Amino acid sequence: MFGAIEAGGTKFVCAVGDEKFQIVDKTSIPTTYPEGTLQKIFNFFDGYRNLKAMGIGSFGPIGTNKKSETYGYITSTPKKNWRNFNLLGEIKKHYSIPIGWTTDVNAACLGEYQVGSASANNSCIYLTVGTGIGGGAILDGKIVEGFGHTEMGHIIIRNHTDDDFEGVCPYHKNCLEGLAAGPSIEKRYGVKAQNLGADHRIWRIIAYYLAQALVNYTLILRPEKIILGGGVMDQPRMIDFVREEFSLLLANYVETPDLVSYIVTPALGNNAGITGGFILAHRSLSDINFAKE
Ligand code: ADP
Ligand code: ZN
Repeated sequence: MFGAIEAGGTKFVCAVGDEKFQIVDKTSIPTTYPEGTLQKIFNFFDGYRNLKAMGIGSFGPIGTNKKSETYGYITSTPKKNWRNFNLLGEIKKHYSIPIGWTTDVNAACLGEYQVGSASANNSCIYLTVGTGIGGGAILDGKIVEGFGHTEMGHIIIRNHTDDDFEGVCPYHKNCLEGLAAGPSIEKRYGVKAQNLGADHRIWRIIAYYLAQALVNYTLILRPEKIILGGGVMDQPRMIDFVREEFSLLLANYVETPDLVSYIVTPALGNNAGITGGFILAHRSLSDINFAKE
């Protein structure tokens, strides 16, 4: 059995899964203060004495560089209680089993890569477009990271000619997240994004921003698949708009798979992150090369 934690800003989802990465038990714990939240996490997993390993996908930014002193920490989050908090370290104190550690979106990417939308591929990108925007990439089975983990939501893109919105990112204002995540839509119109009609002009504009990002990711990484999740993708026509804008922006410069199979939604839905946590747990048991054939 494997344990998985999807650590989010509003809730921690904890789950236990079998050797096939199927969820056996699951619970959701509100993200309050670290001590209280951790106690509830321990209460859940203490009920399972036969866990071989655990995998954690966390909100961040987090320390993922094993050579860094902040490895295992949640670092510069706006959530003050959790800033510079050694989440992995605290959980390791309680469980002496291998524990894999990465970002929430890398975990979701791993889940989709192994058993979801990209299970037949050797590479993929996972992007969530929700309260924030974050993304992870896997190439030849390996999560792409170097000095730190990727921050695909904070890339610089150009404003749409019909959109003079200044953006809401506290660091960059009009980065991708500042212009296209849910709160940017709410700031523009004073209502929640899901309360705007399907024929509102904003959806094309959001799609244009996401498509710019996808063109950039495509040109830099040439993945076989891009998976788009998060609340904003629940907008009914969004995925089609993104494909259309992507096609216009890329202008056939490089070849990609057919866009209907290239830009897709997560096959695992809300379970992508937890499933990725199980796979991370499984991976933490050995050092083998995970590239597929
Ligand atoms: P989180 O990013 O916090 O995990 P979600 O992925 O559910 O949460 O994203 C929440 C965001 O998605 C909110 O900003 C919300 O307004 C927006 N959202 C939810 N449903 C829709 C919809 N149907 N169309 C557009 N935006 C939506
Ligand atoms: Zn930003």
